[in-house]
Amino acid sequence: KRQKKVSVQTIFEGILAKDTTALSRGITLIESTQEDHTTQAQQLIEKCLPHSNKAVRVGITGVPGVGKSTFIEALGDLLIQKGKKVAVLAVDPSSTISKGSILGDKTRMESLVRSRDAFIRPSPSGSSLGGVAQKTRESIILCEAAGYDVIIIETVGVGQSETAVHSMVDFFLLLKLAGAGDELQGIKRGIIEMADTIVINKADGDNQKRAREAKNQFRKALHLFPLAESTWSPQVMTCSALKKEGIEEIWKVILDYLDITKKNGFFEENRIQQNKFWLLQTIEEQLKTSFFNNPEVKKEMNTQMEAVQQLKTSPFTAAKYLLNLGKKQ
Ligand code: GDP
Repeated sequence: KRQKKVSVQTIFEGILAKDTTALSRGITLIESTQEDHTTQAQQLIEKCLPHSNKAVRVGITGVPGVGKSTFIEALGDLLIQKGKKVAVLAVDPSSTISKGSILGDKTRMESLVRSRDAFIRPSPSGSSLGGVAQKTRESIILCEAAGYDVIIIETVGVGQSETAVHSMVDFFLLLKLAGAGDELQGIKRGIIEMADTIVINKADGDNQKRAREAKNQFRKALHLFPLAESTWSPQVMTCSALKKEGIEEIWKVILDYLDITKKNGFFEENRIQQNKFWLLQTIEEQLKTSFFNNPEVKKEMNTQMEAVQQLKTSPFTAAKYLLNLGKKQ
């Protein structure tokens, strides 16, 4: 279906008027790879920027099945009860392959989907994590301009996507299960170090005792880490997303965190650092895209690959040759 052409200014006014259709249209512009759309998307982001930066950005990660959707629904419902507006975005670089493994199926957050105060958007698709993450980051700005108070960014607990989400949020929450046996693995992968709070989910029924034990284990493990730059000591909590138990306590922890880091200046400083990081990331993405899309490079790539395979040239010489081609336009 073709969408009626709407001007950037109209979309912008719609976003400011909290119109979700306009917001969806704006995000679709951001996600488009069409060149004229990209230009329009940049204009829209520029317009929205002065109206953004006000929301709290919360990242949520955890392995598939840990209960992310259920948790986001429980937290979202609670926030809406408190009079807040909640946007849920996702970063899932595998979504092109799996056709949206997270947030693709909107029935998973049924009550949030129905709420007028919630906006849910599945992960943008894309071939690179960098590209997917960038689109999500830009979408945050639009959601903030549309008046959402809390932006939740969901990602699956595999690969590099947690690092990308960590770099675009104020607060990073790691969902875990008791006795999954991967406690130490998490530490190794550095994900626990990124977490501002670890929440052991499914602490209900027969699972409560194991959840408490896991909580103590994590608390001990966290003591081994040096104090974070934020001076915040990561909390370990339990909850039942299904029974909506422990959710209010988790929100209180997030508020505490905001209070402390806003007072000691870390909150602002962190956002500035994140902006600098994204400046560099954007340059990197653009350079890569324009290099690999360069027609000369495209033409020569296979030839050079074969030459390397047949040991006719070194990878470094081939790279240098291609990079030089890429510079010419
Ligand atoms: P996701 O893949 O991380 O998004 O996980 P889901 O939210 O889809 O949950 C996976 C399964 O775990 C579903 O069957 C949920 O009903 C169940 N689940 C989620 N949270 C809880 C909980 O707190 N307690 C129990 N017992 N089950 C839960």
